[in-house]
Amino acid sequence: MSNQPYSFFHSVEKSFDKAAKFTKWEKGLLEQIKACNSIYSMRFPVKMDDGRIEVIEAYRVQHSQHKSPCKGGIRFSDEVNQDEVMALASLMTYKCAIVNVPFGGGKGGIKINPRKYSTYELEKITRRYTSELVKKNFIGPGIDVPAPDYGTGEREMAWIVDTYASLKPGDIDAAGCVTGKPISQGGVHGRKEATGLGVFFGTREVCNMPEVMNKLGMSLGIEGKRIVVQGMGNVGYFCAKFFREHGAKVIAIAEYEGAVFNENGLNEEELFQHRKKSGSILNFPGATNIEKTTEALEIECDILVPAALENVINGNNAPRIKAKIIAEAANGPLTPEADEIFVQKGVLVIPDMYLNAGGVTVSYFEWLKNLSHVRYGRMEKRFTENMNSRILSQIESLTGKEVAEKERNFIKHGADEIDLVHSGLEETMISATREIMEIWHNNPSIPDMRTAAYVSAINKVGTSYTELGIFP
Ligand code: GLU
Repeated sequence: MSNQPYSFFHSVEKSFDKAAKFTKWEKGLLEQIKACNSIYSMRFPVKMDDGRIEVIEAYRVQHSQHKSPCKGGIRFSDEVNQDEVMALASLMTYKCAIVNVPFGGGKGGIKINPRKYSTYELEKITRRYTSELVKKNFIGPGIDVPAPDYGTGEREMAWIVDTYASLKPGDIDAAGCVTGKPISQGGVHGRKEATGLGVFFGTREVCNMPEVMNKLGMSLGIEGKRIVVQGMGNVGYFCAKFFREHGAKVIAIAEYEGAVFNENGLNEEELFQHRKKSGSILNFPGATNIEKTTEALEIECDILVPAALENVINGNNAPRIKAKIIAEAANGPLTPEADEIFVQKGVLVIPDMYLNAGGVTVSYFEWLKNLSHVRYGRMEKRFTENMNSRILSQIESLTGKEVAEKERNFIKHGADEIDLVHSGLEETMISATREIMEIWHNNPSIPDMRTAAYVSAINKVGTSYTELGIFP
């Protein structure tokens, strides 16, 4: 292993270069695809509750404008730095390309630990950050559209849209300047659980592929699989929920204060309530404590789901990991060294920039909703229900038999917003999985699924740049 300090952006470049060899693009175009186009590094003062002035360090990176707007979350974390935001913005470009979401990649970060600030202070920081973005034309429904990420959620997105709208009076599309908003502020049903649900859909699709599962020596399907989840934030929570609801057993959940283990499976909602009450996931009734949280990653299981931060599985701990599949819910949880170890060990890594694309996919649906100014399903729900009722009545009168009540309600039902969002997400994840697997299958010298996913992304972004006519 190298002694260089860890650079997340360098890791992304390394994975990119590995995949670029399997594409036809010339060097210059590959360099352009890889480069971060615009980097805005800022410092601004905010007056804290005690009267002190604090200088806040923050960033917004637009990795690629091959499609507009740029898209990607904003994270609040002590660990934020320019290298990290650049890496995350790059991953957004590739992620959007893979799932055919017509955006360039962007990412933002504010270097704060949100737990150390009052709600009022957080609101001031978020609003000031937004107005800095407005001043430099780094935000807008057609320019760059932030979203939640680590340490942020609906509340912060509501502050952002409100600040933006008040600085752009009369902008009828202002709601499309940010996604992941509360429903009352222009959000879409299904955005909150989208990343976790997308991780589930993608992993389920892989687990339903006989040739993949045979190679791993695993049974088909999700049912009965033993899962370990690292992270109980929005993504980890919903991953655990969907795996459990579809018959898997979530045997361990880890957070920064420690991890809990139960061979018979944990209920994420009860654990969430326990943590809310006691301030820690430890000492959860019926479960064993694992004080050293990183040890949870090394538990024997079928699927390991890192759903927290980058660089948690690296050259040091990868040899000790016993999972057969690693489903990357977080961005960049594995280093390139870990990737190589898993190829040798025959562990299947389902890569982040496709597997966790559910969030940005539903963000795209939210943005479309904002621009169209109408809720999904509003126009056709009642029409579908009336039509289905007619068809059912006809079937009943022609056959002389009655359709059972439960079945009747199911068939009659016209799609609500949530039905359409979930169905659009399921379709997106299934087709992306098949597309990547096909690339991998057609080129057996591609070493792993991450490389196949990068090949898919590079080809799409490359085509887009070429068709833009920038490189005649
Ligand atoms: N922060 C999420 C991600 O890393 C969502 C981005 C978005 O919805 O724009 O994919």
